[in-house]
Amino acid sequence: MGILDKLKKFLPKRKEPELKNTVPKEKENIRKIFGMYCNANHETTDNKLCPKCTALLTTVMIKIQRCPYGIGKPICDKCETPCFGENQTKEFREIMQSAQKKMLFSHPLMAVKHKLASLSVDYAKAQHDKNSTEKQKAQEEKVKSRIANAVRSPKSKSKKRRKK
Ligand SMILES: [Zn+2]
Repeated sequence: MGILDKLKKFLPKRKEPELKNTVPKEKENIRKIFGMYCNANHETTDNKLCPKCTALLTTVMIKIQRCPYGIGKPICDKCETPCFGENQTKEFREIMQSAQKKMLFSHPLMAVKHKLASLSVDYAKAQHDKNSTEKQKAQEEKVKSRIANAVRSPKSKSKKRRKK
């Protein structure tokens, strides 16, 4: 066995593609939304669910676990091939939508955070572009002022005051 082979033993065999597992977070989010929705609409309290919501949530949780898209799955309320069955998908989407609208009023910060999370990728990219153009501009200004200084004759050293 060569040294390289020995080294390979310590290295991860294959680099896994970087995929964020968003499933646990989505499940938590769905549970929270179901609690809010059921408490507001079905006379339940303390995030407990009525039998109907419990049944729907159970179906949703099982289906998420078996999602054919795996951990890189789209969020269920945006999925193009929802697997909860026609009626339950409809109910599920209604619950998610109504709760999200409500969240804007009762938990504006959370709603904003959620929005920001989905925008953060675009934002980071835009910020990066902005920074690099600003740096470029600063660099250009430096060069310009250096040229201006070099060109300036020694006589004109005294600064001219500009009237505002
Ligand atoms: Zn309910």
